[in-house]
Amino acid sequence: MFNVTFWQRLMMRAILMGAFLISGSVWAQTIYPIDRATMVAGGQFDFKVEFSSIVSLSDVNISINGKDYQQLLGKNVEFIEREEGENASALWIRRASLAKPGQYQVTVQNGHNQAKVTWEVFATPKKPLAKNVILFIGDGLSVAHRTGARILSKGVTQGKANAKLAMDDLPYMATVGTSGTDSIAADSANTMSAYMTGHKSAANAMGVYESRAKNSLAHPQQETLAELIKRTTKMSVGVVTDAEIEDATPAAVVAHTRRRSDKAEIVNMFFKVQPEVILGGGAAYFLPKSTQGSKRDDEINYIQKFQDAGYTFVQDALSLEKQYPQSRQLLGLFHPGNLNDVLDRRFNGEANKKQFSNQPDLTEMTKAALDVLSKNKNGFFLMVESALIDKASHRLDWERAFYNTIMLDQSVAIAKKFAETHPDTLIIVTGDHTHALSIVGTVDDDKPGNEMRDKVGVYQNAGYPNYKINANTGYPEDVNVSKRLAVFFAAYPDHYETFRPVLEGAFSPSVKNENGQYVANPVYKNIRGAMWREGNLPKSEGEGIHAVDEMIVQGMGPGAGEIKGYLDNTDLFRIIVQSLALGEKR
Ligand SMILES: [Zn+2]
Repeated sequence: MFNVTFWQRLMMRAILMGAFLISGSVWAQTIYPIDRATMVAGGQFDFKVEFSSIVSLSDVNISINGKDYQQLLGKNVEFIEREEGENASALWIRRASLAKPGQYQVTVQNGHNQAKVTWEVFATPKKPLAKNVILFIGDGLSVAHRTGARILSKGVTQGKANAKLAMDDLPYMATVGTSGTDSIAADSANTMSAYMTGHKSAANAMGVYESRAKNSLAHPQQETLAELIKRTTKMSVGVVTDAEIEDATPAAVVAHTRRRSDKAEIVNMFFKVQPEVILGGGAAYFLPKSTQGSKRDDEINYIQKFQDAGYTFVQDALSLEKQYPQSRQLLGLFHPGNLNDVLDRRFNGEANKKQFSNQPDLTEMTKAALDVLSKNKNGFFLMVESALIDKASHRLDWERAFYNTIMLDQSVAIAKKFAETHPDTLIIVTGDHTHALSIVGTVDDDKPGNEMRDKVGVYQNAGYPNYKINANTGYPEDVNVSKRLAVFFAAYPDHYETFRPVLEGAFSPSVKNENGQYVANPVYKNIRGAMWREGNLPKSEGEGIHAVDEMIVQGMGPGAGEIKGYLDNTDLFRIIVQSLALGEKR
């Protein structure tokens, strides 16, 4: 979690203002969208100017490319003399849009104070290149996850991979930068928001810029891809995840909030947009307060509301399998919270007993979503997230993270199969940010030595691990073999390094002590060979963290040729809307 406190923000502003004062100009107003924003022609956004003091509208002069702003953005100006009771004014035009592509220079003049930003509005082709778009997000997907998934699911002999991952063969590739407006390190909210709106934002924010509003729902918004599709086309939209459906990545398809934890409100945002397919966890936020397990604080029953709107509702793998063929709108909620890791759901009997029963696999959800969505002859946009790659990586639980990556890849294989008969499908596979982990060699129980670290093989001493791959499942027969991968994280709290998988249940590296600081979780202390590691993160961090390292994005199909070189995550929005020609009226 990234929580920039109000005071930190205030300090930052004070420092920024100081810098501008020294350089002779005055930092007196903020314009949203921000400088260097890129937008699709016709896409909607909130235009907002925040003044640092109370101003009179008649003293304010706003021009865009030398013309009065109302000529371009419309006359719906909302002027607030004292915004939220503070001694500062603001000006809004909500749901503005710019139809003509080009550069736009926006100048706000108020007496001696001036602010300027430049926007780029881009065109899209006259006709769609792709009918369907499938976007796969491996949450936290890093290079090590891909390498590990390949070794565990395909094997490697004499230096060559025995086979490739489904994602390996996607012909177009780029690296993607993930930083946000407030910080080089991002979270899944602002990174997914960049894909879904084309705008950068602050950590924890989705579909909005971080403004000075106190209410998390009152920040300047940008239309999301799902909203744009629903407003301008007859296409369908699908959202599939193994996390809570209100979690940042799936939520960003529809949501506008400064605070990703507004989960009850996010359910309402899903209801407003009504994606035809919604599959994941997070049922607790759909249930009225009086129902046991509900996390809402009102009595609205969203499952009922979706059913009343024509959705088929399913809540386990069996009913999903049975009911999706007849459905055109499908809501599946398979867990009150996040679904479980595939390692535990499918292969780990002991841990499995403790779980919510009969959860579908991501592959089954992908198959169902493609079937339902492809009933619409106008095409669809589908987002599929393997969310638990990230959640396991936070817990330094790389075995579960690699298994979740194999599951992502098996879902990509299903999409590639679909594209064989639907060649007008753009498939994109990427992460939203990376984690700080690396495969460095092997750990061999049979290597001599008293300590487990003596059994870590590097360079020529690493050799090859002895996983046996089950050709039917595509996973190893056993994750806990005698010679296994050595995977280490670069950033961590105090914890016990076990050098072997923890199969009793998800690994949990640290616990809070009586001073509220994270210390190593003592339950692993007595695992044979476990080694205490002093953390290198602040003691307020109880888990591994996101890395700033860039990610890989790959793609195939119409429009994928633009995936090349280095991209900002906002460029992925552009690639998708261009392949669907969403800047053109239909
Ligand atoms: Zn994360």
